[in-house]
Amino acid sequence: MENLEQELAQFELDTLAVRAGQSRTHEGEHSEALFLTSSYVFGSAQEAADRFSGAQAGNVYSRYTNPTVRNFEERIAALEGAEAAVGTSSGMAAILSTSIALLKSGDHIVCSRSVFGTTTVLLTKFMQKFGVTTTFVPPTDYAAWEAAFTPATKLVFVETPSNPLSDVIDIQRLADITHAHNALLVVDNCFCTPALQRPLEFGADLIVHSATKYIDGQGRCLGGVVAGPKVLVDEVLGFVRSAGPSMSPFNAWIFLKGLETLRLRMEAHSRSALILAEWLHQHPKVEKVFYAGLPSHVGHELAVKQQSAFSGVLSFRVQGEREAAWKVIDTTRIMSLTANLGDTKTTIVHPATTTHGRLTPEQKVEAGITENLIRISVGLEDVKDLIADLERGLNFL
Ligand SMILES: *Cc1c(COP(=O)(O)O)cnc(C)c1O
Repeated sequence: MENLEQELAQFELDTLAVRAGQSRTHEGEHSEALFLTSSYVFGSAQEAADRFSGAQAGNVYSRYTNPTVRNFEERIAALEGAEAAVGTSSGMAAILSTSIALLKSGDHIVCSRSVFGTTTVLLTKFMQKFGVTTTFVPPTDYAAWEAAFTPATKLVFVETPSNPLSDVIDIQRLADITHAHNALLVVDNCFCTPALQRPLEFGADLIVHSATKYIDGQGRCLGGVVAGPKVLVDEVLGFVRSAGPSMSPFNAWIFLKGLETLRLRMEAHSRSALILAEWLHQHPKVEKVFYAGLPSHVGHELAVKQQSAFSGVLSFRVQGEREAAWKVIDTTRIMSLTANLGDTKTTIVHPATTTHGRLTPEQKVEAGITENLIRISVGLEDVKDLIADLERGLNFL
């Protein structure tokens, strides 16, 4: 296996997704083993002492290391083209651990205004309590990014494409701005996954993921991961070991298997989302569609450059107000009314009253979260059935 690990660097993404990060036990199992154990037995008191002191490498306790979690970390690192990765208990734990590990009181973050809602809460409500301040900027306004830096800026945080309006942010350009200010660029790559976009190749310093979404792909487990250069990942790992937001081995095993089909799923999600977006785009009751796969989308060209497909999340504004959007949502029969995304099952949600419900009316206007906006995460059902599911509601408007 060791030789294979060394060769893996030369292999293509699809091979890595299936083969990277497997370590077989002496049982010779073909599928990855699941190590559900909280601690590990030592052969002697000397060995226990050496493991604890670090003189001997090896497992001590699953808050520190677990073979299944390590398999997952190695596989995702290989897919992202990263030196190392550390699994966490959720996507938010990945973002929290990165922030705490790399920042101290007095430091400053520049963050895209269009990030996952809980990320905004974490940075404003909690990191702020410990003296870390954040400036939020409109994601595609590069002059605003530039202007937001202070001498205390250490971290820049962005999601691309953004949720729910599919803003596409130029990772290379933002990395250049960030590095000119001696800060680190963290990209939340949850929407594209390494199957469609590899931000480290465009100069990003660290990747965070909510593995809960496309990496699981079937809406079962919570998890997250931070990937990047070993020196940075080790800092995050140090915090995870001490604070305890470690990834469950069971969840790691689910994610490990999820990665094997990730690219096939991402291509299928993307294909159906594009068909649905095109259909919505020409529908007379639809005001506007937000999907970077549409040539009419402002971020389309950049998305073509930086992504290999456009992922499965799209949003659209119907004609009318909240009542119209709710009507369309409530008329669907197949789609699941839930805020989760990246599932085989298509999900539909009204951002203004759910995922973005905590925003003030002014913040909603700034972020484009209007009352007539609907977000869909396109699953793997037949897209003809999904179109029919939306058409019924739209015909009522
Ligand atoms: C869901 C999500 C998160 C948070 O992940 P959890 O696993 O729910 O903690 C972070 N970023 C993005 C883009 C997400 O969609």
